[in-house]
Amino acid sequence: MNKNEGQGLEGKIEHAECCAGTNAGTPGIFHVNKTGQGEHKPGNVQNREYGHEPGCHLHFMKEAYKEALKAYGKEEVPIGAVIVKDNRVIARAHNERESRKDATLHAEISAIKKACKKLGTWRLNDCDMYVTLEPCVMCAGALIQARIRTVFIGAADPKAGAVGSVINVTNVEKFNHRINVVYGVLEEECSLILKKFFKKLRLRQE
Ligand SMILES: [Zn+2]
Repeated sequence: MNKNEGQGLEGKIEHAECCAGTNAGTPGIFHVNKTGQGEHKPGNVQNREYGHEPGCHLHFMKEAYKEALKAYGKEEVPIGAVIVKDNRVIARAHNERESRKDATLHAEISAIKKACKKLGTWRLNDCDMYVTLEPCVMCAGALIQARIRTVFIGAADPKAGAVGSVINVTNVEKFNHRINVVYGVLEEECSLILKKFFKKLRLRQE
């Protein structure tokens, strides 16, 4: 990682590391917050080993954020996602719903498609996703279908989030796969880019 890239964010890196490390095995959606205190949201997401080297959570979320920036540049709602396997990004994508006129082309869906193609399998069970916004119900469903291990989420989506905000489909007992969930990695930036985008849109419509 570029030396200046993480400036001012070191506290968050440390916190993400220590929380993901010490709390593996504890049930609940895990939330990494700014004060250095981890907290558990209601829910019973089964946590397992994260398998990441220190500092990787923030690094990979920044890669997802770069994808969100690409979407922003195309006047798409700025959401980006990457899929990581063995500490390497194997797929990256951003929202392309408008430019490709396709309701299903959310960042997460495109990233899953690319990862499946790359690995030659639909099973992504050793893979983690980093996504800048809480997945919607379609994408959370796709994460289950693809057997994604852990989803790291930048900002929550109170209006359409299906990983705890409106509904939580990653933690349904009868489904055959549950996903570990970690919130709060690069949260401010992921949220700010969306606010900026919608503000710009509103100004244009006035
Ligand atoms: Zn979605």
